[in-house]
Amino acid sequence: MKLAIFGPPGSGKGTQAKKIAGRFSLRHISTGDIIRENIASNTKLGKKFKEYNDKGLLVPDEWVFEALRPTLPKEKFILDGFPRTIGQARMLDTLATLDMAIMLKVSDEEVLERISGRRVCSSCGKIFHIKFRPPEKQGFCDACGSSLVQRKDDTEEIVKSRLSEYHSQTKPILEFYEDKKILYYVDGEKSIEEVFSAVCFFIENSISK
Ligand SMILES: [Zn+2]
Repeated sequence: MKLAIFGPPGSGKGTQAKKIAGRFSLRHISTGDIIRENIASNTKLGKKFKEYNDKGLLVPDEWVFEALRPTLPKEKFILDGFPRTIGQARMLDTLATLDMAIMLKVSDEEVLERISGRRVCSSCGKIFHIKFRPPEKQGFCDACGSSLVQRKDDTEEIVKSRLSEYHSQTKPILEFYEDKKILYYVDGEKSIEEVFSAVCFFIENSISK
């Protein structure tokens, strides 16, 4: 089985991908993991990744794809955060045929609320949310008492621009998989367990077909 999961930032797709990988014995492939693995084992690509990382630059997706090229056709996997562009979706299609693309639907308003409400402890890094996981004492970490801050990436303005980039990149990818009739939408605004059981339902149905 070869799957890919999509969803806007803050949709919880990483969490779902991990759970799905566990339940169906799939390799969970996320871009970040691929980069870290290659750097750790000092592969030829890993050296390039490291150079980019050290400079604080974003590793080009094409290289991530190169790293995946030898193993993708042979494996059972769930892709998380990849393909990111329609070009990559087409490239992927020449290597491995996806059985299912899962899209976690979360409205922009919900994404904004989830992300812009996040607060992080300036000292220990523990994450809170002003509405969904408030600290006992407003503005301070439960664990160490240090002050909570909002990450730059989590401000409303940045989230809005990330969302608009996400939509313009993802729309053609969804259409691509819709044409192949392998796209499944799941309501991503429900609880983690509810989303997971909806996803499992689709996967189990497709296995039994
Ligand atoms: Zn703390």
